[in-house]
Amino acid sequence: MNEHLNDSSSSVLIFPEFETPINDRAVSGEVSNNLTLPSSSYGDGSDPWKNLEGRRIVNMRHIFNSIQLINHKGFECSFRDLEFLKEGRKGFISTFYFACKICGTKVTIDSEKDDNDININMAIVSSIVNIGQGYSQLEELTATLNMPNMSNRMYQETHTNIFNHFNDIAWKEM
Ligand SMILES: [Zn+2]
Repeated sequence: MNEHLNDSSSSVLIFPEFETPINDRAVSGEVSNNLTLPSSSYGDGSDPWKNLEGRRIVNMRHIFNSIQLINHKGFECSFRDLEFLKEGRKGFISTFYFACKICGTKVTIDSEKDDNDININMAIVSSIVNIGQGYSQLEELTATLNMPNMSNRMYQETHTNIFNHFNDIAWKEM
């Protein structure tokens, strides 16, 4: 019964309690003020590009804006001076971590703005529910698309949050 989200799918969803800013998450192994930043000094020492394989869903406008805004005071640094360190993922939301090889400044670029009313995780779960499918179909879909999937736990939590939200709206409209 809680699968029927179709009727209210045009409503704007806002879940402030659900959207934890991705930048708040702990970043392990970061080094600041270090002008030489070998990849091996981050994370588990493996090649950071390896974990970046496959596809992602990103907001291109946000990515391009983020790249164009890179401006390190006193230096002429640009995106080409950044070394990719690692990717942090919260479901389908990615944060890409870089360090500037010239001045050592750390830069993060998110796959989308974190003030989206409906972030990609909510959009994915809503889509899957709206077409009458579940987590195992999402697994199949992401595997075929060569895209990292969200965990089953996050899927269920997101599903519950969306359902509660529509439930609240339904009660208020009665
Ligand atoms: Zn720089």
